[in-house]
Amino acid sequence: MRIAYLLIATVGLLPAQTLHIYAIDVEGGKSTLYVSPSGESMLVDTGYAGNNNRDANRIAAAAASAGVKKIDYLVVTHYHGDHAGGVPQLAAKMPIGKMFDHGDNFEASNEKTQAVYKPYAALREKYPHQTLKPGDTIPIKGLQVNIVAAAGDAIAKPLPGAGQPNPYCATYEALPPDPGENARSLAMIITFGNLRISDLGDLYWDKEYDLACPVNKLGTVDIYMTTHHGNEKSSSPQMVWALHPRVAIMNNGADKGGSVKAWTTIEKSPGLEDLWQLHYSNEGGKDHNVDEKFIANPSAENDKGYSIEVTAQADGSFTVRNNRNQFEKTYRK
Ligand SMILES: [Zn+2]
Repeated sequence: MRIAYLLIATVGLLPAQTLHIYAIDVEGGKSTLYVSPSGESMLVDTGYAGNNNRDANRIAAAAASAGVKKIDYLVVTHYHGDHAGGVPQLAAKMPIGKMFDHGDNFEASNEKTQAVYKPYAALREKYPHQTLKPGDTIPIKGLQVNIVAAAGDAIAKPLPGAGQPNPYCATYEALPPDPGENARSLAMIITFGNLRISDLGDLYWDKEYDLACPVNKLGTVDIYMTTHHGNEKSSSPQMVWALHPRVAIMNNGADKGGSVKAWTTIEKSPGLEDLWQLHYSNEGGKDHNVDEKFIANPSAENDKGYSIEVTAQADGSFTVRNNRNQFEKTYRK
């Protein structure tokens, strides 16, 4: 009897070997927090500036609920306001260990982008900082983070185990390339034991092609963090269908991303079990949104900034939870 109690007490004290992910609602921007079982944290983007500290507050709240007091690795995918805008406010609120980005601003002649980049570039001077290239890794303990695209370049060789011919390339329809920051986004594959996640920033249609065709350089994933908020010029069938995700989480706003085109591509993706959305998409209307229980913020009037949370085990099984209604679903390996 006493031994049984002791066992239960000991197991209870062991650190959980669980990866926690928070797709934070930054109202159509991007901010995703990864908390490794090692306790180290990586934040990918910070949402917007302004709004009375809204996005920094939401990031801090997610961090607090994960027991994280410091962002060990801050990754800025590119310099648009919905990704890098919130860095100064976050830095004023929380300690940051090291900053990572793709280097110089590709939209130096764009005033709006410069207004985001300049304060960010001044701030990164005060922190350890690294410019990432394809093939680099981020050294968060407990996870493998492979940079697969940066500053417009893609990895030259497939990731280990990837490189299969991609049959969807035959039907590729090119779009005009994006000359700016979206196409220069940092993109990464995150591996935790048997679980794989793709997080490709706002990578553009033609840059997804570089990763997906003629061979799929990334391999398959369990979770697809939708590229570019579900914008119609990202999430190409060539990329999404080759990734073959079980679950997709879309960081759309009510009127940003969540396009009918990307939504349909994701819903049709072979092997997809569920799509979860941070917001109801007005463009999608009643026919191109998922069931309300999978949507964190279904109405503009009652938008409290609810997040979508993932808890994952190293065997590859994971649970996704809607923090508005506590609806959750477990995806077993
Ligand atoms: Zn964006």
